Formats: sequence, structure tokens, C-alpha cells
Amino acid sequence: MNLTCKILQAHLMSGELRPGCEIGIRIDQTLTQDATGTMAYLQFEAMGLPRVRTKLSVSYVDHNMLQTGFENADDHRYLQSVGQKYGIVFSRPGNGICHQVHRERFAVPAQTLLGSDSHTPTCGGLGMLAIGAGGLDVAVAMAGEPYFIPMPKVLGVRLTGTLQPWCSGKDVILEMLRRLTVKGGTGRIVEYTGPGVASLSASHRFTITNMGAELGATTSVFPSDEVTRRFLAAQGREADWVPLAADPDATYDETVEIDLDTLEPLTACPSSPDNVVGVRAVAGTPVVQVCIGSCTNSSYEDLATAALLLRGRRVHPNVSMTVTPGSKQVFEMIVRDGYFADLIAAGCRILESACGPCIGMGQAPPTGGVSVRSFNRNFKGRSGTADDLVYLASPEVCVACALTGEITDPRTLGIDPIAVATPGQFLINDNMLVFPPADGKDIEVLRGPNIKPVPLGEPPAATLEAPVLLKLGDNISTDHIMPAGAKVLPLRSNIPAIAEFVFMRVDPTFPERARAAGPSLVVGGSNYGQGSSREHAALAPMYLGVRAVIVKSFARIHRANLINFGILPLTFADEADHDGVDQGDQLRLEGIAEGLTTGHFTVANLTKGTNFRADAQLTEREREVILAGGLLNKIKSEQTE
Ligand code: SF4
Repeated sequence: MNLTCKILQAHLMSGELRPGCEIGIRIDQTLTQDATGTMAYLQFEAMGLPRVRTKLSVSYVDHNMLQTGFENADDHRYLQSVGQKYGIVFSRPGNGICHQVHRERFAVPAQTLLGSDSHTPTCGGLGMLAIGAGGLDVAVAMAGEPYFIPMPKVLGVRLTGTLQPWCSGKDVILEMLRRLTVKGGTGRIVEYTGPGVASLSASHRFTITNMGAELGATTSVFPSDEVTRRFLAAQGREADWVPLAADPDATYDETVEIDLDTLEPLTACPSSPDNVVGVRAVAGTPVVQVCIGSCTNSSYEDLATAALLLRGRRVHPNVSMTVTPGSKQVFEMIVRDGYFADLIAAGCRILESACGPCIGMGQAPPTGGVSVRSFNRNFKGRSGTADDLVYLASPEVCVACALTGEITDPRTLGIDPIAVATPGQFLINDNMLVFPPADGKDIEVLRGPNIKPVPLGEPPAATLEAPVLLKLGDNISTDHIMPAGAKVLPLRSNIPAIAEFVFMRVDPTFPERARAAGPSLVVGGSNYGQGSSREHAALAPMYLGVRAVIVKSFARIHRANLINFGILPLTFADEADHDGVDQGDQLRLEGIAEGLTTGHFTVANLTKGTNFRADAQLTEREREVILAGGLLNKIKSEQTE
């Protein structure tokens, strides 16, 4: 057995470990962040249970930290009080980015983690099966119900050789993206094997599993070995360690091999994480901003390496450089160990431990200016600047660019490479974690006026006749559908208000047209809904009346979110039919209930007088969810039965 199947087998509640078969797995831990968490907890509350039923649930605040109005402050207070009541650990604003803190303080090898954030797979770096999902799926897991997915294929990535100087985990995952693209991991769990694994530090592994999300993979996982044991021991958690590896004769559905000896510094060019080239191919491009941080590369090792490279040097006068420690632990340690002073002395701007510029909360680059970031995503406009030019690279490459003011292969700097080892002991101070009392029944949940009830979907009508309100191409991300950023994020608990921003970057008239149209449809290309796990990208369109989305293919989490909110996720049986539909066309789908059973719909294009076939390959459970008008309706009706 491979490692993936071992963990899945130990958590299997229904189905078979055969690719494509729907499996239900037991979830040990959950995590949420504030952008998705308020909605997840409102949904959990709507289920009427007295307490979460997981081994551990943690609620983080990291996405939206600015308190420019009452909305965020209210949301943070709601999250803390709801956690106290229902048995959820609360990580206070300032304690750090969820994936950094979770790996430090909570992740356990061989357990399962479901998180309402697409980079939840980060904790796969220590042998945990960690999956990103929509908030409602996480709420359901907190209620002790299984999490359902089609059994993915397992892609074995055999690593040989050892990382060369100036190369890091970032280059391993950028090489994966170069080869497989942002669609290459779809329907797959990526499992790292081979002799090269042992040479990768825990930090490198976390960077690799983190950006497995950009491959579209369900998750990524490393063995739990001596490196893992040392990491957990350094976190004071050696008791959480268990050894875990694939059997020596394990088989995989597919395999890839990467020779670490031949890897060189890489960068993802604007504006997709798979637009990867060797750094030297774009060397000389002028750079105006450099940002080190995000859940991908903001560990102690990342920041200490950056600080040592900057020690006694100066950030180029044309470059604004920001550094974000990934957690309070990292922050305290770089201060204690003197690296903080190096960063400041060199001219860096230090941001608080949070997602910050990664989610467009400040530090938008100037018009047409190149920003080089250690982050994981560079979709157009995500930075907050519409025509941004964001390159993704390792902290080492970021520092090289910051020193010279242009994209620079660090091997040409004339500086000796630096490798900072994982500390033998991390500084442990959990005073920004608020643990729940044993009994929360007397605790009052505090809600501000920004927190509105969760809207519920409606069961589908027998026939859907509706206009195509928007026609889109390939690789539409959840950032296109439901943008984040400082204006939008404070409205995450208020669906009527946030719905006004749906498709804002694509077509600002969409909300108004949707409200006028009543039921409506959206048509898209392949990999529709890639990117974040935010369920608002399904919930807010549902609120505006979108009843079906017809595309060439879906990103996994977004498809699940559409189903959870009762939106029909249809795919063109013949992708060429995408060309035959235009925005404004009136489409008609008859026999919805029958189509849900057969999986096939004949779609009449009333405007063009043509027909085409669309498919919905739904499991029995997914069919029931859509017929109920969404998962929350289904759960509520089951509770009253
Ligand atoms: Fe936060 Fe960016 Fe990581 Fe998302 S990808 S959790 S926004 S740091």
C-alpha cells in the first residue's frame, strides 16, 4: 500500500479505495480561517448541535486583520465566542497564518484534517492527510459526519538526489507546476517518495505540500520520518509522532520523478503559478516590490535565511520589500535571534503575522510594476492592482531581486549560499490560543450587526429556463467569481452585502443583471473555480439566482461548493459546444429530476434554435443534496425526520 491509502483505509467510513468511487472518510481535525470561518460556524450553529465532535477544531484569524470599521472586530468577537461555546480553539489575530500555526502546534501524522482553506494540504508535510474544502463541508465534519470525495488517483513523486545550493522546496513544487500545470493534480493525491525525501527539511516539505493546491491536487503528503520526529520534538510534541511510510513495494496510479541534483532556481511568471521558467531566463527584469511571507514561505528558516542574506546589505532603493513572519512563534524567534534587526537594518518593511498582501490586504504593487513574491498565487489582480505583474519564487530568489532591483538568479550574486537548519527547539508560547471550557452551554455567542443568517437554497424546479448571464473562458478562479481584498472581506458574514461584488472584476454589472433576471446560468471553460476554497463563490451567486453553471471542467472544491448550495454543476458533453453558446442566450433544461438521475441533460438554446448535451456526474449523495436545495437543507430535514 502507498501511504495515502494507508491513511485513507484507517479513516474509511464508506466506499472503496478505487479511483473514482465515492469515499466517506472520518475527519480528526478541522481548521477554519476568518474569511470562511464565520460562515462555517453560522452553518454549524444552524445544525443545532451542542458541541463539535472532532478530536480538535481550530478557528484562526489571519485573512482580514484590518479594523477599519466594526465589521472585522465584530467577526473576530463572534469567532472567539462561538468557539468557546462549541469547543473550538481560537487562534487570536496576530497569532499567525492558519497553516503555519497549525503545523507548529496541532498537525499530527496519520490523522485527517479538513480545513476551509485551499492550502490546508500544507500539513501533509508531516504525514497528515490534510484536505481543503468549503466551509459547509467543514461544518459538517465538525458535526462528526464523514467527508465525501471521489477516491483520487495517487500520483507518486519519486525524489532522487539532494537539493543544490540556492535551491529549496519552492523550486521542487515550481518544477511540478512547470511539468503538470495548474490542472495536473486534479483528481489526484500527490505522494512524495524516494531517497531524496530524507534530505528535505520540514520547512521545504511544507512549502511543497502547500503549493500542491496550485496543481489542483486534492492534497499532497510526505512520509512521517526522522525529519518529522525532530520537527515535532522541537515543537515539544514528540508524543504526537508516529512513523509512517509507503510499503517498499507500494504501487501508484501514476508516477513522476524529480532529480533534485539537477533542479535550479525557478520562478512562476505572471499570471499563473504554472507559468514557470528558470530564474535566469527572466533575469534583468526591473523589480519594484519584493514580498516574503504567506503560508508558503514564512517559516523561521525562510526568514532567517533572508535575514542572513540581507545582513550588512541594503534593499535596492527602487524596491519596496516587505517581510511577514508566518506566526507569532516565527516572529518571536527572529526577534530573539537577531534576524529581525538584520531585516530592518537592510530596509525591509515588517508586517504583522497574517496573510496580508497575499490576499490583497495592502501592499498592492504600483501600476505596471513587477512584484516578486514568495507566495503561492499570482492570478491577475489578486494583489489588489488590476494589471499586476507578480512573479513567484523562493525567499532566496526574492532577496536576490531585492538587493539588485531586478530579477536575479541568486547564483550570480557572488554571495555564499546559506542554509538555515530547523531549530533544535522552537520557542513555544501559546498565549494567543484561547482554549474552550469543558462545558460551553452558558456561553453567549456575540453577534454584531454585520452577521446575517445564512441564506438557504431552494430545491430545483422541474424545468430551468434562464439566460446565460455571463460567458467565460478557461481557468476562471474563485478570485474572479468572488474577489477578496480590503473592501470585500469585511462582508464575509453578510451574504446580501458581499453578493454585490460577485464577478466584480469580470463584469461589475453582474449583480444588478442577476437580480433583474431571476433564475440564471453561467457558462465557463475548463478548470472553472480554481484557486481558493471560498464557498462565497458559490453561496453569493446562489443568492443572486444562479441555478446552474455549465463548463468544460470544474476545480474540485468549487464543484463541491456549488453542489453544497444547490447549484447544478454541468459539463459540456462535447467541449466544442462551448463555442455555440453566447452571453444572453436563453437556455432551457427540462426534466431536472430525471437528468439528475441519468446524469445527462439536453439543453435547448432557445435563442439559437440549437440543442447540446450537458452532463452532471453526481453520486447518489450529491443528487440528494441538489434535490434538497443544498446541504444545509438536507441536514436540517434529516434532523427533523
Ligand atoms: Fe493566507 Fe495567502 Fe495562505 Fe491563503 S494563500 S492562507 S491568503 S497566506
